[in-house]
Amino acid sequence: MKIVVMKFGGTSVADISRIKNVASIINNNYKKYKLVIVLSAMAGVTNNLQKLIDQVDHPPSKENDLVLTSGEQVSVGLLSMMLNKMKIKSMPLLGWQVPIITDSSYEKAKILNINKDNILKYFIAYDVVVLAGFQGINTEGKITSIGRGGSDTTAVAIASSLKAERCDIFTDVEGVYSSDPNIVKNAKKIDKISYEEMLEMSSMGAKVLHPRSVELAMKNNLTLQVLSSLTNHEGTFIVNEKKLIEKEVVSGVSYSKNESKITISGIPDKPGIAAKIFRILSKSSINIDMIVQNISQDGITANLTFTVQTRDMSISKKLLEKNREKIHYKQISTDSEVAKISIIGVGMMSQSGVAEKMFQTLADQKINILAISTSEIKISVLIEEKYTNNAVKSLHSAYRLGTNSINK
Ligand code: ADP
Ligand code: ASP
Ligand code: MG
Repeated sequence: MKIVVMKFGGTSVADISRIKNVASIINNNYKKYKLVIVLSAMAGVTNNLQKLIDQVDHPPSKENDLVLTSGEQVSVGLLSMMLNKMKIKSMPLLGWQVPIITDSSYEKAKILNINKDNILKYFIAYDVVVLAGFQGINTEGKITSIGRGGSDTTAVAIASSLKAERCDIFTDVEGVYSSDPNIVKNAKKIDKISYEEMLEMSSMGAKVLHPRSVELAMKNNLTLQVLSSLTNHEGTFIVNEKKLIEKEVVSGVSYSKNESKITISGIPDKPGIAAKIFRILSKSSINIDMIVQNISQDGITANLTFTVQTRDMSISKKLLEKNREKIHYKQISTDSEVAKISIIGVGMMSQSGVAEKMFQTLADQKINILAISTSEIKISVLIEEKYTNNAVKSLHSAYRLGTNSINK
């Protein structure tokens, strides 16, 4: 029998009636496939756990991950109870019981290995395996979490390791849209999208899929489907680019409010300074995203502006302040009220004027661009956060991505 992995996100297990709905989807499929079900915590639970941690103000650690991953234990237990009552034999499993081995970077651990035989063996005596997403165990035996939204990655990692037929990601929207359907009302559902575009969309903030899940699916050539747990419609398939007939110039607009801007002003304008600054940050596993450097008013020193994830902002500032003597800067300022807006499309590679249209559209809305970064298939700009919705909607309409526009 073929294996299918189904992942249900927080809203799909938000309460007992939603969990019942998940059980009925399983009921319709478990005789056709060996089903491995991966669950998130019930909606809002992980956010509340994070708020408790914030009140203690504790850096990423084994304790934080112990707290953060507790929500998944509850949803897994509840669904398994429900299945047992329906006479579907279910084996509930937490990450450490598989085990899903990760590295030790708490709150953003990477999955290193999955003991797949320990999952498969349960199909001898059980109908389905229900597994907690988001969690693993490191080689020191400590519970880890793999980053917010990470249950998608658990599901894809399991599906890849079991060589599953497909991995279905059930969520609260009917698939991947040209932009967040909760902001852009006429956003269009995409039937098929390439791994590359999806990876850029997720990395640029479209939280419908955890970026690492897309990366892993691409690496393993695993068919991924995003679909709603509440309707019976086909979702969006994430596939190899070669399978796509039409290559849109721009297929989506993403946004991320999790960015913060750090400006270091008055740094010596000489070789090696940027390397020094970024080495200090990378040693603490802080990822830098957009970077702009310009000569300051005195013509001798320079200003360096870059973005980090908001959760890394205060630690970045502290690290730079600690190294003030080494860098010789005048001042550091931070701003978390910024957002990154990105347009993504594989067709961009062979089309000119795409960036110009983006900048003009924002200019027409009187939205100032604070930083720019590009790759072959995306252009991102940093703007003031308050303009996010306006920017996303204007760009979505400028590139005619909506349901009521004729796509170019
Ligand atoms: P789950 O709890 O099921 O993992 P998430 O909240 O993580 O669900 O992801 C689904 C949400 O992603 C949607 O409700 C939607 O607001 C948001 N989203 C952002 N960009 C997109 C997009 N391009 N297509 C679909 N959904 C998107
Ligand atoms: N429960 C975790 C979170 O809310 C993981 C997930 O849902 O994917 O981030
Ligand atoms: Mg999610």
